[in-house]
Amino acid sequence: MLLDVGNSQRPRLLFILGIAFLFLAGAMMTHALQTPSQTQQSARSESSQIPTPPSGQSATPVPTGPQSSAQASQNGLSVVVLDPAHGGTDLGARGTGGIQESEIVMEFTAEVRKALEQQGFQVVQTRQANDNPSFDDRSAIANAQRNAVFITLHIASTGLPGTVRVYVNSDLPAVTTANGFIPWDRAQAPFLGLSRKLGDLVQGMLTQRFKGSPDTAQSATIRQLRTTAAPAIAVEVSSVVVNDRADLDHMASGVADAIARGVAAFKPLYVVPTTGGVQP
Ligand SMILES: [Zn+2]
Repeated sequence: MLLDVGNSQRPRLLFILGIAFLFLAGAMMTHALQTPSQTQQSARSESSQIPTPPSGQSATPVPTGPQSSAQASQNGLSVVVLDPAHGGTDLGARGTGGIQESEIVMEFTAEVRKALEQQGFQVVQTRQANDNPSFDDRSAIANAQRNAVFITLHIASTGLPGTVRVYVNSDLPAVTTANGFIPWDRAQAPFLGLSRKLGDLVQGMLTQRFKGSPDTAQSATIRQLRTTAAPAIAVEVSSVVVNDRADLDHMASGVADAIARGVAAFKPLYVVPTTGGVQP
């Protein structure tokens, strides 16, 4: 079940990232002094143009910005952020047989993680257990990574059972502030072209294995992807309406293998876009 949550909860579209940068620069220095290398979201010394979550959010990872092409050429795609959607009190889609999306996606995530690690990627998960980080928390984890792509995993309540669809976010108007920053709410905009390439590659691999799946990635308004500053896709497996959970379980290894092969095929195409604008 893909969630399409509107903008209404976020009035601060043009969140002033210059202030956030100053805050983060200070936070990074403090972080570096006090807790060196203790987290996966390690502080970066380079300056950032990437949006940060609005203040007051519980997320603490330090975002990193798009790199220059010189930096990108030195550091290829190495990290995959896996987002098992829903969790905690948010069960996601539910089937009549007691199947819960929030639980099944964890099972799929474990398989996908294994397949990606076998391809040599480092995997970071947005949740490890049955909790429900906010959309912003999840995006913040992704935005703290360098050389990463983001994949959110869902089980659908619709669609032909045994098929898998890949989504990329619909076009977002590119907005930058006078200082060249990207608003948090438009973080995905500079990455949409790359997200499309990644989505088509992963969809192609999935369709080879799961007949009846679409040939190319679809576009949809997806809240989780909009605030993610990386090539980002949603993968949705059909569906929770199967009578026997084993029907879904049997798909996990095939989905994992297809995603891992799709990401590996995307790796040579991975060049982080520069967003232009002025450094603070
Ligand atoms: Zn879902």
